[in-house]
Amino acid sequence: MSLRALANCTYSDMESLVKDLGQPVFRAKQIMEWVFKHYELDPERMLNLPLKLRKDLKTKLICMSSEIKELSKGDDKTTKLLISLSDKEAVEMVIIPSRERLTFCLSTQVGCPVGCRFCASGEGGLVRNLEAHEIIEQLYHGIAHSGSFPDNIVFMGIGEGLLNFDKLAAALGKITEADYIGMSPRRITISTSGYVPGIYRLIELGKPFILAVSLHAVDDATRAEIIPGKLCYPIAEILQACDDYEKEIGRMVTFEYTMLAGINDSNADAEKLAKMARRHHAKINLIPYNETSKEFKRPKEIDIFNFRDILEKVGVTVMLRLEKGGKVNAACGQLRVQHIKDQK
Ligand code: SAH
Ligand code: SF4
Repeated sequence: MSLRALANCTYSDMESLVKDLGQPVFRAKQIMEWVFKHYELDPERMLNLPLKLRKDLKTKLICMSSEIKELSKGDDKTTKLLISLSDKEAVEMVIIPSRERLTFCLSTQVGCPVGCRFCASGEGGLVRNLEAHEIIEQLYHGIAHSGSFPDNIVFMGIGEGLLNFDKLAAALGKITEADYIGMSPRRITISTSGYVPGIYRLIELGKPFILAVSLHAVDDATRAEIIPGKLCYPIAEILQACDDYEKEIGRMVTFEYTMLAGINDSNADAEKLAKMARRHHAKINLIPYNETSKEFKRPKEIDIFNFRDILEKVGVTVMLRLEKGGKVNAACGQLRVQHIKDQK
């Protein structure tokens, strides 16, 4: 049997391991409390365990499979961690503090198969899916680095999480179930490029996660320019899935809209988007493009505000964070691309 990863162990995995190691079953509960209630993955620091058990756990389990390789700080207290995986691939997680709350942004894949033309994460296609424990470990690195458990988690890092559904769902299970980490699903946002079958699988989970859908355009032709290839679903199907999400899960959906100058930022686009948002009860997250590709430009600030005003005038809730659109936060995928270039 291959080694099991501690961050994704179940109670029954741990009980049988502890028994195999000739220890009483109550030790399993102690270990699981260290892992899921104290966010501790190093058996050496599980001080209420006998020394021998601590040593044995290290040989029988993958305790922490990843490590922080590099840190990059933005001017707005945002910190991006480049996390190196056991096969030397890398992903990013971002720590985003604000006055009211602490948010962690996590990745779900190494690279991304969707290949949106403006996005650094999709540049080299998909390398591989992350395992559930690799997703959970990002959270643990963030906690160790910031010293706090986050108020919110957003899956807006590298990858299309709904295309790695089983592993994402397993990680979400550990993060939200009361016996494990027990965070409220209401504080977790899953962002998708609009992968419709994945939205329906998320509905099947039946938990009140926040669904954020990267719409980026109000007509299919423009959307196909931004998201080429088979994974670009028709807007009508996406909107239907959003309606079903709201009906079944009871939560308003968010539309993400990465603003690209001259592509999707006209007044007419804003007006259509406003109508769509009202009809589908969606909030809008406007993300001014953080320039990672020469092909696209970030709109001028005045155009961004104008676009936002058109939405707000008809009562749509708009989130726009200009100050965090800077170097570190918005362009998830950039650090990893730099890392790949450095290795070459
Ligand atoms: N794959 C998922 C989640 C990861 S991307 C998705 O596409 O939704 C999260 C968000 O970051 C998406 O809305 C995406 O459009 C946006 N994004 C990616 N690169 C960006 C960049 N360089 N500037 C602005 N937004 C970007
Ligand atoms: Fe993938 Fe999202 Fe980047 Fe598109 S925006 S390439 S779906 S990570």
